Amino acid sequence: MSKILQISAIGSPILRQRAMAIPQLPDARLDELIVDLIATADAANGVGIAAPQVASSLRLFIVASRPSPRYPHAPTMLPTAMINPEIIARSGELVAGWEGCLSVPDRRGMVLRDRAIEVKYFTPQGELVQQELTDFVARIFQHELDHLDGILFPDRVTTKADLISEAEYMKIAFN
Ligand code: ZN
Repeated sequence: MSKILQISAIGSPILRQRAMAIPQLPDARLDELIVDLIATADAANGVGIAAPQVASSLRLFIVASRPSPRYPHAPTMLPTAMINPEIIARSGELVAGWEGCLSVPDRRGMVLRDRAIEVKYFTPQGELVQQELTDFVARIFQHELDHLDGILFPDRVTTKADLISEAEYMKIAFN
């Protein structure tokens, strides 16, 4: 049975720490955390969630893009656990897009991210995966990787006017 975990909000010190690498895989203790992270992101209409957001300072996040009330135009993929993730190459082509965060309630911000990235990460079984991610999924990966380094999306908005309320964002998103 999965549990819905409590999500730490901006101001919580754990969100500003660099998370610890996971030394050995597979690790049975991670299985429950991964199931709970997926359930927690799903319940909150998130398209991704990082372990530090539920008070586990580990280099692990879930990417789970799908359309939801928070992200009506998101592509659909199976929730994927990514462990000790890294970016190995960047397209250098930056694109602006609106981001939100389950740890930053009622805010959206326009953030520049690389449109395409080559990444590597480990699966919970300990397999190394190397792949190219593009567009919205690449954006999620970059946002979640920031969580592992103590960075939140408001740190990345280019100008202060690009940080807006959820209600104002919804007017833009559904136009
Ligand atoms: Zn976030």
